[in-house]
Amino acid sequence: MIITIDGPAGAGKSTIAKLVARKLQFTYIDTGAMYRAITYKVLKNNCSLTDKERIIELAKGTKIEFKEGKIFLDGEDVSQNIRTREVTNNTSVIAAIPEVREILRNIQREYARDNNIVMEGRDIGTVVFPEAQHKFYLDASLTERAKRRFLELKNKGVKTTLDEIAAEISERDNIDLNRGLCPLKVPEGATVIDSTNKTIEEVVELIVKKIKK
Ligand code: C5P
Repeated sequence: MIITIDGPAGAGKSTIAKLVARKLQFTYIDTGAMYRAITYKVLKNNCSLTDKERIIELAKGTKIEFKEGKIFLDGEDVSQNIRTREVTNNTSVIAAIPEVREILRNIQREYARDNNIVMEGRDIGTVVFPEAQHKFYLDASLTERAKRRFLELKNKGVKTTLDEIAAEISERDNIDLNRGLCPLKVPEGATVIDSTNKTIEEVVELIVKKIKK
């Protein structure tokens, strides 16, 4: 069985998808982490973000594995490295390259071959698994999403402001929603959930109930 959860940055997809997967004993796949991993690799290799040829070359040979809640890039645990602001703010540019998407899409489909999965991202219900049995689109207001991200960063000791985070999220939304290929949109037949005024538990409950029905 395949369950897809799409939506914009900060809507709570990762937290919720992880909990839903745990409840159902499914494998959880965070596809944003995969795009982040490629971005990290590009930055680490001092590759220019405009050098598409080289980015595609770097992406081609990449091995990405999820093990025990961690993500490994070519054997290296990059779970922390892919969460820096530098990686966060450059991932949408890398994710807009069609060849990079194709490479990652193939890996994503491979994961689902032998596993029941909960996969979250931007194009999972629309492009990667349009035939999935259960599709969800998780949204929240920009202010709420910025607040959540701001608190997360503050807890990590990152110095920033709410306005700055709102601007960064808005910029990412803009690229993700407007790119020509696989833009973020509500998949056909998806259940849309607005999490602005809902707790994590409420959203998880809603999703699990819907699946069990
Ligand atoms: O979900 P997360 O915020 O970690 O995703 C980081 C970026 O990866 C997104 O802003 C988007 O540009 C890209 N992405 C994508 N398609 C997906 C998942 C993520 O383009 N399925």
